[in-house]
Amino acid sequence: MTKPLTKSTPEQMQAHFERGHEEGQGLWQILFFTPQDVMAMVMGSAQGDDWARQWLPPLAHLIGGISAIQSATRGQSPQCLCCDTLFWQDELPAVFVGLVPASDEPTQVTMCGICEQCDDGFEDFPALKAGVLDAFRSVLGDDARELPPQVAETGRA
Ligand SMILES: [Zn+2]
Repeated sequence: MTKPLTKSTPEQMQAHFERGHEEGQGLWQILFFTPQDVMAMVMGSAQGDDWARQWLPPLAHLIGGISAIQSATRGQSPQCLCCDTLFWQDELPAVFVGLVPASDEPTQVTMCGICEQCDDGFEDFPALKAGVLDAFRSVLGDDARELPPQVAETGRA
């Protein structure tokens, strides 16, 4: 698996999506993780849980990258998927979103974050999912076909 994107300028995201678009032939899987999920996956990973072992590394990479940023810096800080909030060590995502090409062995994974204000602004989980799909659609373009979003097993659907 390639390194996940941690410094997502719009141009980088676009390039990343284009590669993933080819790999999944336009089909994507969207995964949601809360910080509680991440904690559970740390335990799960230690116990050999496949799901945790697959998704913890890119999440840890994103969280590690954000934790190393000492102030909100445009061009360096990952940005909230739904607004202009920049993440840094004192502003961690409230929800993590993984965008994965729908292939048996995806090599591209895009991990994004949603800030607390946006998360609070969504009435419920379906609203959050709809907001995420809208955000991705603006980058992926209208020709992208989408599978129904799949929720992490440890998610909060
Ligand atoms: Zn936001």
